[in-house]
Amino acid sequence: MNKLIRLSKSCLSDSEKQAVLRTLDKELLGMGEETKLFETMLADFFGRETVCVNTGTAALQLAIQACGIGKGDEVLVQSLTYVASFQAISATGAKPVACDIEPKYCSIDLDDAIKRLTPNTKAIMPVHYAGQPGNLEAIYQFAEKNKLRVIEDAAHAFGTVYKGQKIGAFGDVVCFSFDGIKNITSGEGGCIVSSDEGVLNKIKDLRLLAVEKDTEKRYSGQRSWEFDVVEQGWRYHMSNIMAAIGIEQLKRFPEMAKKRQELAKLYDKKFQNHSSIKTFQKNYDEVVPHIYPVLISGMKDRESLRKQLLEKGIQTGLHYQPNHWLTYYKDLKPSAFPNTEKIYSGLLTLPLHYDLTVEDVEYVADELERAVNLR
Ligand SMILES: *Cc1c(COP(=O)(O)O)cnc(C)c1O
Repeated sequence: MNKLIRLSKSCLSDSEKQAVLRTLDKELLGMGEETKLFETMLADFFGRETVCVNTGTAALQLAIQACGIGKGDEVLVQSLTYVASFQAISATGAKPVACDIEPKYCSIDLDDAIKRLTPNTKAIMPVHYAGQPGNLEAIYQFAEKNKLRVIEDAAHAFGTVYKGQKIGAFGDVVCFSFDGIKNITSGEGGCIVSSDEGVLNKIKDLRLLAVEKDTEKRYSGQRSWEFDVVEQGWRYHMSNIMAAIGIEQLKRFPEMAKKRQELAKLYDKKFQNHSSIKTFQKNYDEVVPHIYPVLISGMKDRESLRKQLLEKGIQTGLHYQPNHWLTYYKDLKPSAFPNTEKIYSGLLTLPLHYDLTVEDVEYVADELERAVNLR
């Protein structure tokens, strides 16, 4: 068998490994100097304050809780997303209300969302699918009109530029993931970017069991021995080891982003005239893609196509099975998700990560074409 071309992977250099060793040598592994430095570097990157947590899911959950949203409240979210978006909402006690997508960018369909508004709707969570923010401006207008908070799930969009500004540099509350395969990683991890100081200060407490002002204490090398707690908190802080990895990844980000963009452009070019392999239109001078999904028209048997490609050493994926099909999130009043279900039926995700080569992409594209043409 050929070498395996992985769908995604963590891409680490010697600098991350050295940084972790230096941190281990300090024998201070909790949240401290490195976490503080990573937050400062991210704040420079986004141009506003950033708070780190231990996963992207935790970032979303704490963002919702810090906005005062919980039991009895509803949050609009597209069904086509990772289950993390839904779990983060339900973890706060709020109800995720699944919405359809618009088919061009796979972002939340506002004509559908409007039908799902109730007096309990408190927020909308747009997901920047594959790194593309879609109709973000319209989403903010919709939110303003309906008095909703906007919690952006920007897990796919670290580094993406929208109308001249980085995702995270503007907007209400923007959440990123640094899990092992995202555009940058800190092993696991995530962050929240906002201009709402009240929300960020609350998140700083919530990530440390809601111990008031514990972040300041830890950043000055102290502990809190006598304190108050006024609500439910969590152990969601980011450790120094994670931050040490994140710091080095952030330094390498320009180079890593460029590679992802170039590989995605190459896939686009390979498929540009294909009759049944359709790409999602993106401007890869602005979008830093986390994944590269395509749509196969007339897809009949995705599993056998995936198996065929795997036999050629190509791992593929599926982003995502709709969340409204899950037992836990089933809508009690059945409703239609025509775009989500239509797009889902044709979806296939091709390998994309920093260590992939131009030759790998050409090989994957050629093998996919061969397999699709032979059907
Ligand atoms: C990765 C991801 C998350 C969650 O991030 P974790 O760091 O894995 O918890 C949330 N939403 C989407 C769309 C993701 O891809």
